[in-house]
Amino acid sequence: MPAIDRVAVIGGGAIGTTLAGDLATRDVDVTLFERESVASGASGRAAGICYDAYTERRDIAIAGRAIERFREFADSFRPVPYVLLAREGDREQASAIESLAERMQGRGVDVDLVDGATLGWEFPALVTDDVERAAVARNAGVLDPESFTETMAERAREAGATVQTGTEATLADPRTVRAGGTSERFDAVVVAAGPSTKQIVAEVGVDLALECYRAQALVTRLDIDVPTVFDATNHYYLRPRGSGILLGDGVDIDVGPDDDHGEADAAFVESGREHLDTALGVEASVERAWSGLCTATPDRDPLVGPVEAGLFVATGWHGHGLMRAPAVAERLATQVLGGDGIPGFEPTRFAGDEQFEPVEGVSLDDS
Ligand SMILES: Cc1cc2nc3c(=O)[nH]c(=O)nc-3n(C[C@H](O)[C@H](O)[C@H](O)COP(=O)(O)OP(=O)(O)OC[C@H]3O[C@@H](n4cnc5c(N)ncnc54)[C@H](O)[C@@H]3O)c2cc1C
Repeated sequence: MPAIDRVAVIGGGAIGTTLAGDLATRDVDVTLFERESVASGASGRAAGICYDAYTERRDIAIAGRAIERFREFADSFRPVPYVLLAREGDREQASAIESLAERMQGRGVDVDLVDGATLGWEFPALVTDDVERAAVARNAGVLDPESFTETMAERAREAGATVQTGTEATLADPRTVRAGGTSERFDAVVVAAGPSTKQIVAEVGVDLALECYRAQALVTRLDIDVPTVFDATNHYYLRPRGSGILLGDGVDIDVGPDDDHGEADAAFVESGREHLDTALGVEASVERAWSGLCTATPDRDPLVGPVEAGLFVATGWHGHGLMRAPAVAERLATQVLGGDGIPGFEPTRFAGDEQFEPVEGVSLDDS
């Protein structure tokens, strides 16, 4: 394999900025192209939840390594347990939680299976009298996704990378980037441009099995000590955020990469208020609400690796891209330089012309 001295990264989200830093610290000459500003895509809109509560060994290892790196790089990282719960009368989700927790325990994940009373004893601010079953994953936390991404961009710059914001990039061929009125050839190009990745690589004849969906979140001012919670019965999640609570849900499947306007729907905000009542027994006023785009693949695993000689992609996160970014970017940097990738994430496992309905990421299927 020829020496990889110069690499272009397209996309200044959590993946692209971390990757740029990981390559630059290995003495690679890196240029990162971001069409708007760093973290202007999903990475600046994420809820900032991370955990290692997965059932596959590969996913547990990636999530665990990511949390180690968040502890190292993200000043805003705070350990917070991640609670999955099902409410009374929802035997299906309660059984799913039992089976998930047992599989996680069998693979060494630090997770406890508890009833409502035990959950309420540990987390008195939660409404737990109607909780049928819950699992509490301990290796979990929350962070500010925007500041993490900005920190990663700064780390990349300090390591010598050029970060060109306000610069839309396209491909002239798999290793030639057109940006700012010029074309430049690199030894390798990595496209980590969220939903736009599909269009960017399509220009050089690569079809990606990638769709997108819209997710929403809101914040309220509520100074209550809570863990991160995913309520599988009512389908929402919440996490503590400063002196408030962030709540997310409100998924819209039928959208394209340019369809999101960034504003939350009134119906989502209304249902969010109801969920806060279910979860915490409080009425809260919403301070801010927003939306963003998540990426999806036919099998719900991401697309990370080469699609052509010298051309790589990293996308398809199903709402779990931030929590995996530090570990996936680290592994991808190794792969770009000629090492091994992540088995099972190869983008070429699909032909690229698959028709599929995106399935949102937050569910008990993969936790
Ligand atoms: C409401 C919401 C909540 C979420 N919560 C979580 C969570 O709690 N935990 C979690 O792990 N994940 C969460 N996610 C998902 C997470 O945000 C994404 O998986 C992750 O941020 C993807 O990072 P990325 O770097 O791949 O893409 P992005 O952050 O989307 O970055 C791609 C960048 O590429 C740029 N770009 C696009 N086209 C071009 C071009 N032609 N030239 C140059 N630049 C270009 C865009 O401007 C963008 O900045 C959430 C998402 C949403 C919307």
